[in-house]
Amino acid sequence: MIPLVAIVGRPNVGKSTLFNRLARKSRAIVHKSPGVTRDLLYEEVQHEGRRFHIIDTGGYDEDQGDALLPRMRGLIELAVEEAEAVIFLMDGQAGLAPMDAEVGQMLRVSRKPVFHAVNKIDGPKHEAGIAEFYKLGVEDFYPISAAHGRGIAELLDALVSALPDAEESEEVAGETRIAVVGRPNTGKSTLVNAVLGYQRVMVDERPGTTRDAIDTPFSMLGRRYRLIDTAGIRRKGRVREQLEKYTVIMALKSLERCAVALILIDASEGVTAQDGHIAGYAYDRGRGCIIVVNKWDLARSAGRKVEDLREEVRWKLKYLSFAPVLILSARTGESVDLLLPQVDEVAAGFRKRTPTAALNRLLEDIQRAHQPPLVGGRQLRLYYIRQVSTAPPTFAIVANSPESVHFSYQRYIVNRIREAFGFQGVPVRLFFEARSGRTPPRRRRKKRTRRTKP
Ligand code: GDP
Ligand code: GDP
Repeated sequence: MIPLVAIVGRPNVGKSTLFNRLARKSRAIVHKSPGVTRDLLYEEVQHEGRRFHIIDTGGYDEDQGDALLPRMRGLIELAVEEAEAVIFLMDGQAGLAPMDAEVGQMLRVSRKPVFHAVNKIDGPKHEAGIAEFYKLGVEDFYPISAAHGRGIAELLDALVSALPDAEESEEVAGETRIAVVGRPNTGKSTLVNAVLGYQRVMVDERPGTTRDAIDTPFSMLGRRYRLIDTAGIRRKGRVREQLEKYTVIMALKSLERCAVALILIDASEGVTAQDGHIAGYAYDRGRGCIIVVNKWDLARSAGRKVEDLREEVRWKLKYLSFAPVLILSARTGESVDLLLPQVDEVAAGFRKRTPTAALNRLLEDIQRAHQPPLVGGRQLRLYYIRQVSTAPPTFAIVANSPESVHFSYQRYIVNRIREAFGFQGVPVRLFFEARSGRTPPRRRRKKRTRRTKP
């Protein structure tokens, strides 16, 4: 699980500027998958070999006046609960504001490490401005300029040293971890209850690895499952529940730990942009994906047809074309019994190891059926394929010209692998590597490797 860092502070102190600076720093390193829509709410950052996610809690500035403080309170409460560390940003040119003191007060009660950063210290002449922030009763401040990059390295150094190590999520043998993600009101809690309602054996809830995550393990027909973070899904009626950002953060955290993501869509509303973002995160994290179109009872009464619901999903969530679509009703229970068998199938693909000999026979077939295109007058040759890892299944092909494999040909290969080995609902990843007599040094190999996540 990658630690999460939240940037909080009142409007206009420079949160999104800082976010963009940190994100830009990492964007050069982190591969971005093509075709995935996402808002810029979270990014992965790398610093000194450590990785973490940052979230920007801004974007509520349009709410002026009375609504602002409760909303900020909700976000900060959330940030403090979910994040491993908090950057509390203030404006060194505007000076200490009453609202800073309020935010400081909220953060003081948390046990999370809080980094107090005074922004807009663009040069020495602004440094005097820091003095008044000591009124907050804090010992250490990080003077930074998010716009110009001053002090950012020092802040990052301190930050990463306070973060817990990114631990591998403990995988219990034979257990399938399921995350239920989706916008508020798509029916996540209803579905969880419906699924658990089918179970004879229900083990009671017990705390998961993170302080706040409550997983629900259960078993059916001798198979074991774990619903990730169901406490967050069930906890209802608090301010932050209404926050779209809360949904996204919960989704991100549970996606880190699952094998299979159930992406909920409300059939009565169709696929919205926010659904697209959440689905994009699932895809991005390389999880097994099942698109669950819920509230089928409502859509049916409204005269919708199964085929056009499917078509809408396929059209609006194109990059999840590999994911099965299940249309059901969590409330009436219709088709809910199809869910776990589908989960089993996706989970099996997610963990599957494909024999190298069979893979290489397939690679020959692929090249016979559809010759790789010429590249600069030269024939592209694919020599050898192997599966380098599972969860998600990742393949590497040794080629004479790895840089120049066209995207459409990569997609063709991935689709053939998918067909041949049954990776339904599983994001298959593919790398190309240069051929060489011996294993090249790691760094060179990395450079030459081209990666795609079709
Ligand atoms: P947010 O509302 O907290 O997300 O703040 P923004 O990132 O939108 O920044 C608010 C304003 O402060 C913008 O006009 C930024 O250009 C400006 N700003 C942000 N960081 C700095 C900085 O380091 N120095 C200066 N002088 N201006 C900054
Ligand atoms: P969550 O916010 O995603 O956890 O959504 P809830 O499970 O709380 O459901 C939101 C609302 O949708 C509740 O009023 C549910 O009763 C309703 N709901 C959930 N599933 C269905 C369904 O399959 N059909 C209908 N008609 N309503 C549903």
